[in-house]
Amino acid sequence: MMQNQSIDFEIDLKIENATLAKESEQQTIAIRNGKIIQIAPVISPPAAQTLDAAGSIVVPGLVDPHLHLDKAFLLEKSPAQAGTFQEALEETLRLKKEFTIEDIQARSRRVIENAIGFGITAIRSHVEVDPILQLTSIKALLPLKQEYAQRLTLQLAIFAQEGITNQPGTEQLLHQALTLGGDVIGSAPYTDPDPERNINIVFDLAQSFDCDVDFHLDFLDDDEPLLFPIVARETIKRGWQNRVCLGHMTRLAGLSPAKLKEAAALLREAGISILALPASDLYMMARQDTHNVRRGVAPIQTLFDLNVNTAIATNNIQNLFTPFGDGDPLKICTLLAQTLQLGTQERHALCLEMATTQAAKAIGLRDHRIEPGSAADLVILGADSISQVVGAAPGDRITIKSGNIISQTLVSRTPKDQLVQIV
Ligand SMILES: [Zn+2]
Repeated sequence: MMQNQSIDFEIDLKIENATLAKESEQQTIAIRNGKIIQIAPVISPPAAQTLDAAGSIVVPGLVDPHLHLDKAFLLEKSPAQAGTFQEALEETLRLKKEFTIEDIQARSRRVIENAIGFGITAIRSHVEVDPILQLTSIKALLPLKQEYAQRLTLQLAIFAQEGITNQPGTEQLLHQALTLGGDVIGSAPYTDPDPERNINIVFDLAQSFDCDVDFHLDFLDDDEPLLFPIVARETIKRGWQNRVCLGHMTRLAGLSPAKLKEAAALLREAGISILALPASDLYMMARQDTHNVRRGVAPIQTLFDLNVNTAIATNNIQNLFTPFGDGDPLKICTLLAQTLQLGTQERHALCLEMATTQAAKAIGLRDHRIEPGSAADLVILGADSISQVVGAAPGDRITIKSGNIISQTLVSRTPKDQLVQIV
């Protein structure tokens, strides 16, 4: 890398020899004032910094559109005894009573530092608000949003996990959390005895604060009626198109092709994005199946073919809902490709789009692409092709946020003759 800060360059950073998803020839990406200004095979004017990608794949920064910072790494405090959904709900509720600002911040920092290293440039984290935790979680995460602002776009989605109509005081707490600085409002209507009222309260708050909406929805594999038509109807009625995102949606996997097509038409009309959370859903769904166990992951490749915006997310990191994972969206890409049987180059490219551009769109970040005019949020991956990236998440990564190189991870192996001798 060359560096020369003494001259006033027209280009802040040039990334040369970048392999891009849609270009056969290697390209140079020129960046100024945090934005991509030009993409061409050769860009002649010198830059303040030049980075040689040496043929590596360069993609828009990874985006995790659905994550629970405040529930990360809870498995360390409470290992699973039964490993059931009921245990996860009950034990997490118990653990929540012990959360402190310092504890939430310490666990969240671990996740965020790893995320930046993975090449994540934006996260939407759900932030639990209920009469038990009250505003502890939002008070813990707002300072982190500021602290990491130069390195990560962190959206805070105020989240009523335990229901609203059954938890007196919750609606007021949600209001207070949004007043403090929450960016998005959401809930898990399946935990509420009156899911329709729950959904309406969330939309009322969204309208009061002019914020986007994010539900955990149609998740359990029981015979209760699907709730997404209610959300779609409210979205259209209130003019909230392209501002609503639904996570899990595993029950869409149980619809016939004709019913799924109808569902897609409604979701498309409402401009609703659908997020699959395969690490959690594979672990939690279809527990009552005694044999030939269903996969229970939303059919997001089919929804994408039906013009619905779809994406993937990590959801949880090593807690009772998801005892696995490190927060790397590329590992979720691999898992998704395996689970939904996505084997072609075209489908691999879709997997990566669902962890970058489409994930960004789902949380309201437009134009998260490698194009002139877009923010220079990028990741250089130690791989030559998209299929390699989806095949096995590469360890080597360089993260660029707003045109600044903020993290470099290089995996190295020590030759045998240089191994540390253990005596
Ligand atoms: Zn979640």
